[in-house]
Amino acid sequence: MKFISTRGDAPAVSLSEALTLGLAPDGGLYLPGHWPAPQDWDEPLPIPEAAIRLLGPFFEGDALQDALPAICREALDLPAPLVASKDPGLYLLELFHGPTAAFKDFAARFLAACLARLRGPSDPVLTILVATSGDTGGAVAAAFHRRPGFRVVVLYPDGKVSARQAHQLGAFGDNVHTFRVAGSFDDCQAMVKAAFADQGLRSQVPLSSANSISLGRLLPQMSYYAAASLRWQVLHAEPAHFVIPTGNLGNALACVLARRLGLPIGEIALAANANRVLPDLLRTGEYRPQPSIPTLANAMDVGAPSNLERLRALHPELADLRAQVSADSVDDDALREVMGHAEERYGHVVCPHTAAALKLIERRRDAGDRRPYVAVATAHPAKFDSVVEPCVGHAVAAPPALSSILERPSRADPLAADADALAAVLRRL
Ligand SMILES: *Cc1c(COP(=O)(O)O)cnc(C)c1O
Repeated sequence: MKFISTRGDAPAVSLSEALTLGLAPDGGLYLPGHWPAPQDWDEPLPIPEAAIRLLGPFFEGDALQDALPAICREALDLPAPLVASKDPGLYLLELFHGPTAAFKDFAARFLAACLARLRGPSDPVLTILVATSGDTGGAVAAAFHRRPGFRVVVLYPDGKVSARQAHQLGAFGDNVHTFRVAGSFDDCQAMVKAAFADQGLRSQVPLSSANSISLGRLLPQMSYYAAASLRWQVLHAEPAHFVIPTGNLGNALACVLARRLGLPIGEIALAANANRVLPDLLRTGEYRPQPSIPTLANAMDVGAPSNLERLRALHPELADLRAQVSADSVDDDALREVMGHAEERYGHVVCPHTAAALKLIERRRDAGDRRPYVAVATAHPAKFDSVVEPCVGHAVAAPPALSSILERPSRADPLAADADALAAVLRRL
């Protein structure tokens, strides 16, 4: 299969090229050149097996085609339990059982497994440069940690990620270099963009990205929706309705794509925090990107969702867009309220992002909707202990993978929020 840019002004490329390039040369995002016919899905499948079937058509004819089964089994064999709650109509799809306790582990591991197979033995070391508001950096660092031929440079905004996130980001060492930037997440992102635009730098220091616009992150995320909806189908009379905490729209878009490929998925609702660009777009039809507002659900503090360009390219008409997804916004007070009662009402302590999804379901209940829903639990609450613990009134134990990272020493070097400072560091590593 070939992949084309959302902006239509770049040559069609192979999957491997799309993975290596990240962004298309015309500034657009890669999408499949055509959509495989929906398959017949009947039996439940483990995530790696669902991924092999689902992703087969996209890998057809590519250099990675024969490696796809091994890539899926290596990268996607993480647990993703669909757990019941005390509310019989509410389930949680827990996507936080990977090494860094957030759903981004699935995609980061898949991308790393692909890129590792695309490298020749004599290729120079490739630097994966990543700006993070907290979760992406850890997942990417874990996925590339100690992989020969790769180096990871993580930039995070100093003082603006949770203490446990900060510790985790600096705890890898070896080929992972972590910098705490004296600035905002937007500053970190601007520094990364400047580095990618600096051809002189790139000829000396080969760079690649792993951010959420990469096709190598989007595609594998379909697989847990496939596995969960097939399991759901065995137990329930109607397709699974998912409510998904949303920032850059990567996770939710994967669910839309899985439904397009024939998986038994019903409604898809996007839960945003106070950054309400998506709900506003669906309501008014106007897209108004904004500077991001800091909230308790910091991994969703996005004022210009990067994957929106893909969703709009697929569904340019507003009526069609509204038929695909709905969206609502949840402010910090409501997030605190839900975190405060989730344990009693549902039997689960939840992270602030997951709380946004639960709030949307509660609003529907209040409006008389009794259908069952699946809330997507995107991170383990212990990762956001400083936000969660005051709401629940007790300590939240870290899962084993997170604890073992937190026990390691952590180191992050200070860096000015300045493109030249980053370029100097990249040349020196
Ligand atoms: C990244 C992240 C999100 C947002 O996901 P998108 O794919 O950017 O929409 C939600 N919750 C958590 C915990 C995250 O790390």
